[in-house]
Amino acid sequence: MSGLLSAIRLQQAGIDFAVVEKNADVGGTWLENSYPGCRVDSANHVYSYSFRPQDWPQHFSPQPVLRQYFTDTADEYGLRDRIRFNTEVESATFDEASGMWRVQVNGPDGAETLVANAVISAVGQLNRPKMPDIEGVGAFAGPAWHSARWRHDVDLTGKRVGVIGTGGSAFQFVPVIADQAESVTIFQRTAPWIVPNDTYFQEVPQGKHWLLNHVPFYAKWFRFNMFWSAAEGLLQAVAAGDDWNRPEESVSELNQQFRESLLANLQEVLNGHPDLIEKCTPDYPPGAKRALIDDGKYLRTLLRDDVELLTDGIDAITEKGVRTADGVEHEFDVLIYGTGFKASSFLHPMKIYGLQGKELHDVWRDEPRAFKGITVPGFPNLFCCYGPNTNIVVNGSIIFFSECEVRYILGCLAMVMQSNGKALDVKPEVHERYNQWIDEGNAGMAWGQSGVNTWYKNASGHITQNWPYTLLEFWQQTREPEAQDYNLI
Ligand code: NAP
Repeated sequence: MSGLLSAIRLQQAGIDFAVVEKNADVGGTWLENSYPGCRVDSANHVYSYSFRPQDWPQHFSPQPVLRQYFTDTADEYGLRDRIRFNTEVESATFDEASGMWRVQVNGPDGAETLVANAVISAVGQLNRPKMPDIEGVGAFAGPAWHSARWRHDVDLTGKRVGVIGTGGSAFQFVPVIADQAESVTIFQRTAPWIVPNDTYFQEVPQGKHWLLNHVPFYAKWFRFNMFWSAAEGLLQAVAAGDDWNRPEESVSELNQQFRESLLANLQEVLNGHPDLIEKCTPDYPPGAKRALIDDGKYLRTLLRDDVELLTDGIDAITEKGVRTADGVEHEFDVLIYGTGFKASSFLHPMKIYGLQGKELHDVWRDEPRAFKGITVPGFPNLFCCYGPNTNIVVNGSIIFFSECEVRYILGCLAMVMQSNGKALDVKPEVHERYNQWIDEGNAGMAWGQSGVNTWYKNASGHITQNWPYTLLEFWQQTREPEAQDYNLI
């Protein structure tokens, strides 16, 4: 999504570029995640490029529709010829003498070095599947796979299926595979917060289509209103209040109200099943971890006789299935890992060598940081999309963020071209000051206050993923680069 966007903007600016893509097609996350039930959880009228609106059939599109949107975007802008498919970047090295990046790629024709004035990373935060740190992973004798590597060749009909994880991916595929499998057993470590949305699977009504297509400016107003009410509005509900001390429940009075409304929904759908209500009640504040959205479908699936939710810790993966801490071995025909991604390993596994030959990951030492999520001191003309601290938690749209980032990056390139220098390097003190401000912001949010396990944090508990302020603030931060923030080299 960010890569196509970068290409479009570079093309419009008349700047020569090449796109390197490890997959055989465009689409990124919407190409790789093809698990049953996969669909977007930000409303499509905001989860789309501002310059490429579409008459979406549903409010929240399923994966094939989104994949088509990005495929169409690539075709419409004639980008395919500019993309080297099936090609992976292995390393990028900044040459101080020439001020150029030498990018080592490996593709169908073997290894090659591309030389460029600037490098834009558009690899995302949620791309590299993470297998759980559980003894015996790999020992299971039957088919086993990660949700982002779905085995469509395995028919689940009549199969006993074990699922590890209850994050956004498992939450979506469990209700679908429950209709096929003989039984589904879900291993839950942490209960997710579930936000009900009656429109989640619904078609956009005909009247709304008519308004979007015929009333001047209605579509723009509709999109803006969604941003404003859903994103900025909810932010306050996950911000910490002063003197509020209920770390396992909520972080403010408003957050407590939010909690109670979510619990009321849970209790209503699971009415008469106190055991399930207890298992599904999170012991951390709403907003501390990514909340999941549907119309109650997942919770209703848990009520089926052939679906079981287990909360006992996992001891080991065995040849036959999963052994829980109580010593019971649960036997399965198929095992599916919905265990997420290596979110904190930004730009992994690429090696990026900046000034004095320093490697980016050695500099970060598991604490990825960037100025505005985009530039890193010592790595001139290296720009990140969806870099450190640019993930949004309560709605909004990550595409909006990418648009802000790419506009800023184009501004940086213009600044270099209009100067006598070769490259821009963000000043360390500017970067430091900015990250202090980010840390302060995150410390005041539910995800910064709670000790709950989440991909928003790195291994040491530092929030490396999230943007803690408003969408408007990010738009202002990235409107245009300021010369005083950078050294020209
Ligand atoms: P995730 O949210 O990181 O969830 C991973 C799950 O695996 C969690 O329930 C986690 O438990 C569990 N897990 C990991 N290691 C484990 C272990 N050793 N033992 C037991 N359980 C373990 O991953 P995801 O579901 O793939 O979703 C990732 C993100 O992708 C989402 O948050 C969302 O941002 C995005 N996504 C979006 C959509 C959408 O737009 N609709 C759909 C899917 C995903 P803990 O909670 O205890 O860590």
